[in-house]
Amino acid sequence: MQTDIEIAQAADVKPITEIATIAGLKAHEIEPYGYDKAKIKLDPTVKRDKTLGKLILVTSINPTPAGEGKSTVTVGLADALQMAGKKTMIALREPSLGPVMGMKGGATGGGYAQVIPMADINLHFTGDFHALTSAHDTLAAILDNSMQQGNPLNIDPRRILWKRVLDINDRALRHINIGMGGPTSGVPREDGFDITVASELMAILTLSTDLMDLKSRIARIVVGYTYTKKPVTVNDLGVAGALTVLLKDAIKPNLVQTLAHTPAIIHGGPFANIAQGTNSILATKTALQLADYAVTEAGFGADLGGEKFLDVKVPLLGKTPDTIVIVATVRALKHHGNVALKDLNIENVDALKMGLKNLGQHLTAMGRYGIPVIVAINRFTDDTEVELQVVKTYVEQFGASAYTTEVWAKGGVGAKTLAAAVIEKSAQESDFTPLYQSSDDATNKLNSIVQVIYGGQGVELSQVAQRQLLEFKQLGWDKLPIIMAKTQYSLSDDAKQLGAPKKFVIHIREFVPKLGAGFLVAMTGSILTMPGLPKHPAALDIDIDKNGIITGLF
Ligand code: ADP
Repeated sequence: MQTDIEIAQAADVKPITEIATIAGLKAHEIEPYGYDKAKIKLDPTVKRDKTLGKLILVTSINPTPAGEGKSTVTVGLADALQMAGKKTMIALREPSLGPVMGMKGGATGGGYAQVIPMADINLHFTGDFHALTSAHDTLAAILDNSMQQGNPLNIDPRRILWKRVLDINDRALRHINIGMGGPTSGVPREDGFDITVASELMAILTLSTDLMDLKSRIARIVVGYTYTKKPVTVNDLGVAGALTVLLKDAIKPNLVQTLAHTPAIIHGGPFANIAQGTNSILATKTALQLADYAVTEAGFGADLGGEKFLDVKVPLLGKTPDTIVIVATVRALKHHGNVALKDLNIENVDALKMGLKNLGQHLTAMGRYGIPVIVAINRFTDDTEVELQVVKTYVEQFGASAYTTEVWAKGGVGAKTLAAAVIEKSAQESDFTPLYQSSDDATNKLNSIVQVIYGGQGVELSQVAQRQLLEFKQLGWDKLPIIMAKTQYSLSDDAKQLGAPKKFVIHIREFVPKLGAGFLVAMTGSILTMPGLPKHPAALDIDIDKNGIITGLF
């Protein structure tokens, strides 16, 4: 079997103008970036006189190092729908460079279900993340300069929320001192770096509905507080316009193709463990306007990306999914049943049955939204027929069905039955019931997420978090939606608790108000917003030869 990058390098790549035509985009509606990438223009906004397509949301069980293959299934399912004669588009997130050089692997699918050009998409792509990094750090510089130039806004350097960002996993930058070097080098203070995808600007870019919405959201960002504890915004600093200029191209969705030439939009990349974890509203909306089926993915498990898609993105998108697909693998389920990674290729029905509880919790959680839910078993070569049947029988107890897919090995052909099920389910009436109302208070929202989605007992707020909620109430921020920042590996806030733990409490350390994005981030457990590199970073295995051929990317 070839590696993902070898398959991608051998692909028959069509010019992006041809893919745009397949997508139904006119020549003046795209801005080609070389041969195989293009930006979709915002103006004239791609609007079509047709009803929106069906929206298919792909999510998964809690990820394990064994791999689930959400992106792979998303791409393969879209190819299968296209093969079935349905006009289909994909809307995916752009991978972050930090984890690409670290450990995660790409986010462009795998095997024969990939989006291409995969190396470009995983590296610098069309420069959106660089633009975000520049815009974010421009704001940081403007903020520090305001304090240096007489501090007219009376900003308290000890109460600054706006850190700096970089799209690199670099733990050494988590806590830094800046402004060293005397009076001409700034006001000394503690600062730190987050990874670019954790920037509020990333969340804003992916939630904005047009350029002016982007600008007004940027203006609302709270960067810190004054000495009298009043919030200071970007509007106060006067740079909403300049930051929007820096993002004028990044806001335009990027068009690429799958190995089978299904049009795919890759745009925005907030992580689901620290932000809302979904691609941009503009990308999803464009796909819905152009295609009959828009297949999209939400990051990590259904507890993170799935819940946030349904409770935070859907109200802004104005469209609910028509079918939710939960991806699971026999390997990952056995890992949830405590099988060691080295033994996952051995049949083990008992462990599988134990680990299935993780899938069960996600089926229950997603099922409560009133949208049809189905399970895609992403088949690995070592899975046995007995194991696959055990998963199918288990899923039937929830009134749902599971379909084996082999898109990694076969491309779209490997998801024929899954595609047929998606078409059938999407034709059904659904009755969307959100998890909470925006008028609910923050603690109730948190408890609903923990009890209904995670299967736990509730939340426990630190003293800091309790005090913050009182302050937020006075500022009128207490009714904002909640974004949980939680480990992706467990339903609880302890990464080691696999399967479906019960009777656990989620500990909220503090809240981070994100007024531009329009939500409160609840920091749980020991979740970090700047990842580190592992002992053997992926970068050690990546190389390029004299012909420009890259190896070891995946
Ligand atoms: P996720 O979206 O859940 O993070 P991806 O789709 O990005 O997962 O897949 C992660 C990695 O696992 C990729 O390198 C992909 O090639 C590999 N992979 C996915 N499905 C399979 C499969 N069925 N068999 C073997 N490898 C797979």
